[in-house]
Amino acid sequence: MDFNFTTFPPRPAWTEIDLGRLRRNLQLIRRDLPAIVKLLAVVKDEAYGHGALDVARIALEEGASFLGLSTLEEAMVLREAGITAPLLLLGQRQEAELPWCVEHDLTVCVNEVGTVRALARAAAARGKRVPVHVKIHTGMSRFGVRWDQARPLLELICSERSLLLEGAMTHFAQSDEADKTFAHLQTARFDEVMRGLAESGARVRYQHLCNSGGFLDLPQAHRDMVRVGILMFGIFPSGFCRRIAGLEPVMSVKARIAAIQRLEASEVVGYGMGYTAPAPRRIAVLPIGYGDGFPRVRNQGCALLHGQRAPLLGGVTMDSLIVDITDIPQAQMWDEAVLLGRQGHEEITVHDLAKLKHSVSYDVLTSWRLRLPRQGVNRAAKPAHTHTGSEQIEEAAIAK
Ligand SMILES: *Cc1c(COP(=O)(O)O)cnc(C)c1O
Repeated sequence: MDFNFTTFPPRPAWTEIDLGRLRRNLQLIRRDLPAIVKLLAVVKDEAYGHGALDVARIALEEGASFLGLSTLEEAMVLREAGITAPLLLLGQRQEAELPWCVEHDLTVCVNEVGTVRALARAAAARGKRVPVHVKIHTGMSRFGVRWDQARPLLELICSERSLLLEGAMTHFAQSDEADKTFAHLQTARFDEVMRGLAESGARVRYQHLCNSGGFLDLPQAHRDMVRVGILMFGIFPSGFCRRIAGLEPVMSVKARIAAIQRLEASEVVGYGMGYTAPAPRRIAVLPIGYGDGFPRVRNQGCALLHGQRAPLLGGVTMDSLIVDITDIPQAQMWDEAVLLGRQGHEEITVHDLAKLKHSVSYDVLTSWRLRLPRQGVNRAAKPAHTHTGSEQIEEAAIAK
């Protein structure tokens, strides 16, 4: 059987991505950033669940110079879609990936000798000189060559004729807390490596240290470029960091009422009879569950309906959850409920859901599952007087 995904009726549960807000957030970030500092938009993991292609296109239109990704596949999807901007692959590459990276102009972060040599060979074999960014571990102890052992690797990169040392980077273990002591130590370690490099006469075009937290709170570490992820989506990395007025969350999660039931006093709800009605209740079933990425909670959290909070009753199941609408008598079948985002004067924030999950905002954004359709709204084109044509935006509208 053949069917057209763009015409069959959408599921009554979805994530809504406000691309107008995304554009506005990027404009506010760009305005806040000194003009000489470049912006690398981190669009790994489907742009934190917002849709990598839409976000990549809008970020580039709003002045991002680089895009940051985690896996080869993520980068290839963007190249396939016609994105020609520099793509930086964060993390570590397997040797088998390197020829692909050379072939498709994907910029690699290098951490160790083996990758440097293999990449140099792959580039030479194709008659190319490829840019690389060296990742220096200055205290995070994840990817990167140790700051106090970086020099030989830098010298090796500089000696490889098919490689160009374009960037040097590090990553902060803690940039968004009130105490910046460790971030300052990491910056000092990075600077020590850069001094050594300068003494040997080498230069890098882009030094970059900052994620969203560093961008907000460590202006002395901005250098040539900042790598911004979560802030684009209107979420501050912590409660402590500096605020930029006007940023708004881009993602909402919604579902429509798919059943309404009445409970008599002492009747129960759901698996394990996890809720017992103390008095008559009117309840609504929303067709979204832990199989869509909603936290598997019991008698905790709420949905918004008609601008009011409707508490969750019983346990969340794979495909549905149940809310109490006794105090929302106007609620009817197929009314729209909000599980993340704003409705009227009420709001459920990503931090509220993070608390339910015993996790962090990043995890909430990225944990919605593929079967939950993603719907882009406010996809207005960039005004015609600016530097990018509108064809790209039309194309994006068709692509999703
Ligand atoms: C994910 C990531 C970022 C973006 O971090 P945010 O806190 O979302 O801004 C920056 N740099 C590296 C190396 C990353 O892996």
